[in-house]
Amino acid sequence: MEIGPGIRRIGKGLVNSYLVETAGEVTIVDAGAPSYWGDLPRELAAMGRSLDEVRAVVLTHGHTDHIGFAERIRRERRTPIFVHELDAALARGEVPNPAKGFGPVRIAPLLSFLAFSVTHGLLRIAPIREVSTFGDGATLDVPGSPRVILVPGHTPGSAVLHFPRHDALFAGDAIATHSVTTGVDGPRIPPFTADPEQALASLSRLDGLEAGSLLPGHGQPWTRGVAEALAAVRAAATGVTG
Ligand SMILES: [Zn+2]
Ligand SMILES: [Zn+2]
Repeated sequence: MEIGPGIRRIGKGLVNSYLVETAGEVTIVDAGAPSYWGDLPRELAAMGRSLDEVRAVVLTHGHTDHIGFAERIRRERRTPIFVHELDAALARGEVPNPAKGFGPVRIAPLLSFLAFSVTHGLLRIAPIREVSTFGDGATLDVPGSPRVILVPGHTPGSAVLHFPRHDALFAGDAIATHSVTTGVDGPRIPPFTADPEQALASLSRLDGLEAGSLLPGHGQPWTRGVAEALAAVRAAATGVTG
């Protein structure tokens, strides 16, 4: 579905993969679930593009629900997969997931997320055999020229990607607008975060940044500004609201 000019999303908002188009070329931000591979040609066609114009997959971090079809597109199309250097081993399946525990849970949303995981192939993720890595502050030489902001905590190599020309900030799991384990909407530190305190502290790196849309790994787009999103995350974390 269309998210904004030059941006489409695969998935209904539970697990997100984004297509970002500029000058006829496409960068995929996060590869969602393996089953999204089947949706990709149609989403590309809706932009007037095809797999031939996908230049890169950039991962916000190395969790399986963001790796999705990455190994498949790498293997079949030789599309390079980019991830922060601190999450490269995780993306290659060489180290265990640093995040433990669900945190608070409500049974119905958790069960529907588990059902989604089963039906969309999330329990059978192919690790990525080869990744290209980037560091903090890099501007990536891929369509849209995203700038990398390292925000460790959810995972050590979690990165937010700022696409200035699209006025969009891809937050990965640094900020979610929907919790898959509680069903609660609104900007939050998501579940499955390795070090929630560090994740919260890292958000100070986004202070002062402006973007018309904040696009999370889980949940719907946030269009009320980065500052308001950060305030909501901090309020939720300190129990001031919700
Ligand atoms: Zn994650
Ligand atoms: Zn995730």
